[in-house]
Amino acid sequence: MATPLAIGIDLGTTFSVIAHLDANGHPKTITNSEGDLTTPSAVFFDDDNVVVGKEALKAGAIEPERLAQFAKRDMGEAVFSKPINGEELPPEVIQSYVLAKLKADAESKLGPIDKAVITVPAYFNEPRRKATQDAGQLAGLEVIDIINEPTAAAIAFGVESGFLNANGESIKTERIVIYDLGGGTFDVTVMEIDGQNYRVKATGGDVYLGGIDWDYRMVELLAQQFMHKHPNLDPREDAVGMQRLLREAEDAKRSLSARESVTVMFEHHGQGARVTVNRVDFEHVTADLLERTRFTTNSVLRDAGFEWSDVTRLLLVGGSSRMPMVSRMLTKLSDRAPDASLSLDEAVAHGAAIYAGIRLAAGAGQPQQTTIQNVNSHNLSVLGVEAATGRPRAHVMIPRNTALPAKSRSQFKTQKPDQRSVVVQVVEGGDASGNNSTSIGRCVVRDLPRGLPQGSPVEVTFRYASNGRLTVKARLPSLDREATLAIERDSGMTDEAIQDWGQKLKSKRRKN
Ligand code: ADP
Ligand code: MG
Repeated sequence: MATPLAIGIDLGTTFSVIAHLDANGHPKTITNSEGDLTTPSAVFFDDDNVVVGKEALKAGAIEPERLAQFAKRDMGEAVFSKPINGEELPPEVIQSYVLAKLKADAESKLGPIDKAVITVPAYFNEPRRKATQDAGQLAGLEVIDIINEPTAAAIAFGVESGFLNANGESIKTERIVIYDLGGGTFDVTVMEIDGQNYRVKATGGDVYLGGIDWDYRMVELLAQQFMHKHPNLDPREDAVGMQRLLREAEDAKRSLSARESVTVMFEHHGQGARVTVNRVDFEHVTADLLERTRFTTNSVLRDAGFEWSDVTRLLLVGGSSRMPMVSRMLTKLSDRAPDASLSLDEAVAHGAAIYAGIRLAAGAGQPQQTTIQNVNSHNLSVLGVEAATGRPRAHVMIPRNTALPAKSRSQFKTQKPDQRSVVVQVVEGGDASGNNSTSIGRCVVRDLPRGLPQGSPVEVTFRYASNGRLTVKARLPSLDREATLAIERDSGMTDEAIQDWGQKLKSKRRKN
């Protein structure tokens, strides 16, 4: 039997990439059937045909209601945020179409592929990771592992520039900041690599900040200039005009990464205009967006307990990091030149392919010692009431960016005399007053005996396992009474649903 190919897939919010290790063990991106290195993560549902990638975007510009985009944001949710042709689809199904195209296009070049490593953001919780794994299964792939995008990027940079050996082992302790500005998301991760131990020290970001926001600012610039020439004609006024303008804007934005100014010819309702945008102006109107990434980068570094002088490497990933304003800002911030030596949109997939190679070699009998330690990405708190003010108050049990597994215990008190039950309200994220937090469950100790004095101690224990499962225990030591709550988050598709969809998708693929 031939050794299986080492395949790595970067399943992105806006673009996805598939790579393999060539005969010399070097990572190579596999071009898709359109000849491109990256494939838009866009799926268009025609009546009896499903189109993925660039063609999906083109078709979607005319019939937007049949187009699914940014499904990655909904991974871990029960259904995709927008019904397609009136049908509610699990986000896994949409992502599986993207994976199936990457797989099919790669197979036409390399022959059958059945195993792959798929990457996810460091902040993905367990349900989102499982959803990603399920999407792979639906696409007919055996997902040999899921790894974090920043970890994959670090492996690619490390192996390529020599600070890691071919097994992904560091020569000395590395403290790495990975700044990833993609199409629809921004994230920054601080990681320590010590030999084969990868420890995420802190991670943070903004799931609603990315290249698309820069595109919208460019749309404004273009539209203003267009309206300067045709005052009563706003090209943003209808959906089709807007789609076209957005495409022009993205193009212009990319050009400005290489040139100081760009000229766009644009037509709307038979009226044409030639508009020119300078890089300086574009940077001016997007300065606040960049500032948000600067702020987050600094706070994640602080969460990790590092100063810039502790950092050994600063890596750039994500297509939007190509904008010169990004590296300029980071150079000033960190007082060092960021490393953008690898292709910004391929590094993650390349790292995943290298990691797939390591995993497959391990399966073939070589020792495999790489360990990866993660952190939780949101505060986990108990929501209570402040006695003095009666206002809600979140008591943080496990702060965000705590290394997993984690355990924590706190003492609370009953609020009233003769209290018959104790309710521990568990929330994720949010501020000190519990605003914007997500409720994830209640742990209740019921049927307490009469006459329990006010202020009786209540001991609360949180246990957060590496697999993301949270167990909460509430105990009244004076009565030796307790209640336990195992929080099983909404875990996406059931095994039966995966089976059913798997069959459906398989027969569809045969037809196409
Ligand atoms: P994701 O991982 O979020 O799917 P990518 O890392 O592939 O996204 O980045 C896609 C984004 O990068 C898009 O917004 C695209 O416009 C932007 N981008 C790609 N090339 C350039 C460039 N040369 N200059 C500016 N932005 C770019
Ligand atoms: Mg990405």
